[in-house]
Amino acid sequence: MIEIHPRPAAGEEVVVERAAPGRPHQGKVFAAIQPHADDIPIYCGGTVAKLIEEGYTGYLIQTTNDENCGPTPSVGETILSNEREVAALAEVLGFARVFNLGYRNHRMDGDSALELRCRLIFLFRLLKVDTILTFNPWGHWEENPDHWVTAMAVEAARWMSGMDKDYPEQFAAGLAPHAVTERYYWVARRGQPYNRVVDVGPTIEKKVAGLSVNKSQGPAGSTGSRLKRALAARGLRLPELDGDDETADRQYIRRFVLRPDREVGAQYGLEYAEPFYYFGPDETSEVDEYVRRHAVRL
Ligand SMILES: [Zn+2]
Repeated sequence: MIEIHPRPAAGEEVVVERAAPGRPHQGKVFAAIQPHADDIPIYCGGTVAKLIEEGYTGYLIQTTNDENCGPTPSVGETILSNEREVAALAEVLGFARVFNLGYRNHRMDGDSALELRCRLIFLFRLLKVDTILTFNPWGHWEENPDHWVTAMAVEAARWMSGMDKDYPEQFAAGLAPHAVTERYYWVARRGQPYNRVVDVGPTIEKKVAGLSVNKSQGPAGSTGSRLKRALAARGLRLPELDGDDETADRQYIRRFVLRPDREVGAQYGLEYAEPFYYFGPDETSEVDEYVRRHAVRL
């Protein structure tokens, strides 16, 4: 099990984001960008489901082909099973569409940073992305190059997409500058900071379902049913894993995989919470505020 031990960001107040009534985000767009099939389910599945229920349109951008993470010896079958499970994840959580960028698994530190950034800028402009969820590009202890390469590209693309001289051919093709204004960066490694916790109690069963479709890899998927079979081979049984394989898988997820969400939530009076390092829209500038207060008619 991953031990993350999230740490409240020094000198910052932690904001608790609760379920909002109605659809306050209607018309807004987010993109969740994951290198691997198991990232979104672990780090933000409950928040993704919440934002979509509250009116956001969500897009899933997957940067790698997951070729090295799956149960079969065949690389081709591994790619296919992960691709199908990402499509199923999108269905379960309510994403509008998946974009598979297809970079090779575990090799992204050798890929063109400029190409990845350009593709992301294109997508942010095309989809008019307001909000992103991904790994923290400055997060300490990250060991997986797919994670930090993706995060660094997203971080540069999110502001560059709002500029009016980068990639002018995209404007000729009908796109317009469009900057991302909100960021939810995941807490993925030991001690990474957070300044926001999202109450995912109301959407936790969607998170469970999202974790469960990921059978090819990750800490969840089919682990419960495999544990049940391993115990049976030793003449043992855990009553809470009783039922069919899917029931066992989901019970295992609720018991073990969601423990970090329970532990963070308990600190803020919530049943389950996902922590993030969050950046909101830029504050009104000092100059704009001064003009608003002091400008007079000519
Ligand atoms: Zn990953």
